[in-house]
Amino acid sequence: MTSPETDQTKAIRIHAFGDTSVLQWESVALPSPAPGEVRLHHTAIGVNFIDTYHRSGLYPLTLPTGLGSEASAVIEQLGSGVTGFHVGQRVVYAGRGPVDGYSERRNVPADWLIALPDDIDDEVGAASLLKGLTAWFLIHRSYRVCAGDWVLVHAAAGGVGQFLTQWAAHLGAKVIGVVSSAEKAALALRNGCQHVLTSGPAELAGEVRALTDAAGVAVVYDSVGAATFEASLDSLARHGVMVSYGNASGPPPPIAPLDLARRGSLYLTRPVLFDFIADASEREAAADALFGLIRDGVLKVAVNQRFALADAASAHRALEARATTGATVLLPD
Ligand code: NDP
Repeated sequence: MTSPETDQTKAIRIHAFGDTSVLQWESVALPSPAPGEVRLHHTAIGVNFIDTYHRSGLYPLTLPTGLGSEASAVIEQLGSGVTGFHVGQRVVYAGRGPVDGYSERRNVPADWLIALPDDIDDEVGAASLLKGLTAWFLIHRSYRVCAGDWVLVHAAAGGVGQFLTQWAAHLGAKVIGVVSSAEKAALALRNGCQHVLTSGPAELAGEVRALTDAAGVAVVYDSVGAATFEASLDSLARHGVMVSYGNASGPPPPIAPLDLARRGSLYLTRPVLFDFIADASEREAAADALFGLIRDGVLKVAVNQRFALADAASAHRALEARATTGATVLLPD
């Protein structure tokens, strides 16, 4: 760890888009926090699939760039004009950009910060905020999940998937999870899925119809994208809601409005978390709800992979190889 006076820190940087070989561990300058910013010393950093899209260039950023949108931290220094936070306070953030979470220390706008409750540890904070708030908006905004709804969740044993599954089940929904292995199926069942499907996109819609008395599901939460998009649409009930919120297998194909009509007057939405937490009071209320459910044991947060921050490449390889379950964090030295 460097001291606040040196104005240097260690961070992951990329100078080109590509596979994990583009991730470099570098010393970078750390200016004093600008007005309205705070300087943070990271304690645990959340790894999210979006970090791989930034690395590959699927979501292009200006180069060179850091990576990482989420972390737990301790406040080291306040820029001028910052109120409501103090040096030494534990905080967590999920920010749209600049993405520089894969670093030992950094400056962020103070209005990104959420105070980390004393009973939420740093790893759980870094594993929960972005993924848990994503589950929150998917369940409460993109579609309002109600007791008795049939809900289809792809990647149900993954980072977002574990929150989504537990939260929807807590609301009384009947959750069908989709995963790729027996080990992941067992995890998804423990998280409250009534049924878990592992057979693949070709069988998906037929299996969903069989489980739902031919009706189909009220909502599909599809984070897989290209490989599952059509099967997800075919799994929906009349007036069902297709929530396409990720591209783990590649971006979904274009679709004509008439394809929604002929499948039963479907709705299609492609939401992004940061559009649902732009309002600070709404973000804080959602974070309170999330941490409350974690505190109450309704949402159990599995942090199943830990890597050294400098070895972020191994975390990306594991995530892209579908070798992870639950959440993954990077730990600074
Ligand atoms: P996950 O932990 O869910 O990891 C991705 C999972 O996707 C894998 O474990 C795997 O589960 C499944 N998958 C299916 N096909 C592939 C493939 N070809 N390559 C890799 N994985 C595949 O990641 P996160 O929880 O970090 O993110 C989940 C998704 O949510 C991502 O698509 C991400 O972009 C999206 N997201 C979107 C947000 C938004 O605002 N729109 C916000 C946050 C996340 P299995 O092996 O069981 O199939």
